[in-house]
Amino acid sequence: MLLFYGTRATKLWEGKLRAGSTTCPHCESQNSFNITIYGRYFHFFWIPIFPLSKKSIIECSHCKKTYDQDDLPTHLQQVLEKQNDINPVKRPFWHSCGCLFISVVFIIPFIFSMFFGILKSCSNAFDDSNNSEQTEQFEDMRKKYLEEDMNKMTTSPTYETDSISSTLKSCVALSIDGIKTDKIKYFSKIKEDNILVLLKVEDMKKIKSSSRKILVEAVESCLDVYLKKKYNYYVGVEGFWNMLLVSTPSESDLGGRFADKNLLLEFYNEELKLKITTKDTVQ
Ligand SMILES: [Zn+2]
Repeated sequence: MLLFYGTRATKLWEGKLRAGSTTCPHCESQNSFNITIYGRYFHFFWIPIFPLSKKSIIECSHCKKTYDQDDLPTHLQQVLEKQNDINPVKRPFWHSCGCLFISVVFIIPFIFSMFFGILKSCSNAFDDSNNSEQTEQFEDMRKKYLEEDMNKMTTSPTYETDSISSTLKSCVALSIDGIKTDKIKYFSKIKEDNILVLLKVEDMKKIKSSSRKILVEAVESCLDVYLKKKYNYYVGVEGFWNMLLVSTPSESDLGGRFADKNLLLEFYNEELKLKITTKDTVQ
């Protein structure tokens, strides 16, 4: 493709050179100079893109000799500079209209896209903070549910209200020596394929820490016998001060001293996800 580009010039101003007294080096006539100032610009397909330098041509009105500004004698150059200072010649607006065109077509959209890009990343950050807020809420609710369930443990579960706990109470009592099994408190809950069993034992001092997990094993084997199908067990045994043993399908803490009760929170996941999704859909 043939590209048309280059420089062009237009006349910006013409008049008398009056900023000082002058003598033509050729015919020696006094104050006889006319001056024409041209402005050059760069064009692309004849559209002016940006302005270039200005040029002054001086002509003696008497002998008609012309002088380029670069070839002037020093005294004439000084007069010319003075004239430019007193009466500076402005360029027409259209010498740089290509720049304006480029700004409108390319630069302004670019700035806008940058601006909206920043806005978008800000709003993403906002969404992220919303998400982390939701995660926190989710976490808090699970802890609240566990706390509530732990408060429901009782030494005398009935078959009607909590059949699993009631069965465990009689089953576990048979297999454990060294603990007052009649003092153990129970609570249980089933969610689909998951069973949560919470126990509170007043005194396990007679059993070494390393052997305390037999209580969890007893619970699990009792459940295996009692239940007709296979469930995932979430078992937590609380001591006098803190959680002693925790066993879940994904992780266990069976050292017998300080167990992380938060491992049990996994049990509440499905229930809460369901609640949150329903709430979102209703909104
Ligand atoms: Zn002359």
